[in-house]
Amino acid sequence: MTWSEVGIELEEARYLGFMIGRRTTSTNNFKSAMSKFRERAAYWLAKREIGIFFQVLGFEMFAASVLSFVAQLYTLPEAYAKEVLDISAKFMLGPGQWFKGRGNHPYFRARIDIGMKAVPRCVVSQVQTVNYMSSRQCLLSAGARVAILKNNIGASWTLTNVKHAHSAIENSPFGDESRTCVLIQDIADMRSLPRERHDIKKFVYSALFDRAHPKATLFQRFDMAYRTRWIKPGCLNDPRPRVLSERAIGRLAWLSQHVPPRVHIANVRLHLNAWHTRRRYQQQGVIQCYFCGKHVVDSLEHIFHCDLVRSVFPSEWRGNLSKCFFLSGGEDEVLLASILVYGIYSHHCAARHSSTQAHIESKASIARLIGELSVNKQVSQIWYDHCNFYYGR
Ligand SMILES: [Zn+2]
Repeated sequence: MTWSEVGIELEEARYLGFMIGRRTTSTNNFKSAMSKFRERAAYWLAKREIGIFFQVLGFEMFAASVLSFVAQLYTLPEAYAKEVLDISAKFMLGPGQWFKGRGNHPYFRARIDIGMKAVPRCVVSQVQTVNYMSSRQCLLSAGARVAILKNNIGASWTLTNVKHAHSAIENSPFGDESRTCVLIQDIADMRSLPRERHDIKKFVYSALFDRAHPKATLFQRFDMAYRTRWIKPGCLNDPRPRVLSERAIGRLAWLSQHVPPRVHIANVRLHLNAWHTRRRYQQQGVIQCYFCGKHVVDSLEHIFHCDLVRSVFPSEWRGNLSKCFFLSGGEDEVLLASILVYGIYSHHCAARHSSTQAHIESKASIARLIGELSVNKQVSQIWYDHCNFYYGR
């Protein structure tokens, strides 16, 4: 038998874990991986009791990873990519899509820009990185190779077979127009690709990530929060939203290296107006303040000025909202403020779900919640010193 007698009749079949054949597409290849992905993502989303940090960890290890096998040859089709990002964004629990900007970009950027650990990596960029890493060697000169292949086929095969063979090539990741080829070409155009495999992988992920989630978006989100909420009289009373929001981003990024993720996220939530107050959820009416016990509208505006809340901060800070709540002090002051903000946030969360009168022991409760944190030596010392002054006697 010669090559010219071989017929290409294969429409679609599974081979070594991939769908092959002239009818196959990237969508067909990802179909079963996607249903596994959906199932596993739903499982981790439902596991509220383990906390957002471990939910995200589980999602990355067991859900996001199922896409990487097929990703060795194919990139995710648009519709699947959108679905994957939508599912990832569901881990952003909280009031009214608090982190949402255009396309949820600020949320995905939070991991890189402010070190927020409870945010999933961008699965789409990850999948594209796998695709690039596995095919870059054989596809760098793909155009030329495909042309040779087509010529060879054309020379010895009958016309129908040639047509079939061509469509099999065009549908495969090795076709000139395939997303994989476009991706490889895009990255080849970026001049300064590093040499080591490990570095290349990092470089490619971050380049693809920046393309998917533009750099300015997190800054825009913070700027908007400051502009619409915090710069006003009665709050920070400072007309420089851009300066203040950029400082906040810098401090939060620094803070992420020094305090546990839960402290960090309580502070991020404050900057983006995402504490679970009744006002934030647009509920009407007054309640007994969880801190001072007065009848008030449950809102950040009250918490900022609440007598009991003020009393947990060092006396020389009182009335200085920017130092107490918005991380404007020196290093030690930022660390102390951040754990106090965490204590206030956590007490508020616990009190919302408690049927007893939470305000009676609110100060002790804040101290206890902070005391339960596992923190580094520096933070621990700062907290110890503060307690000696304010809770010691
Ligand atoms: Zn109060």
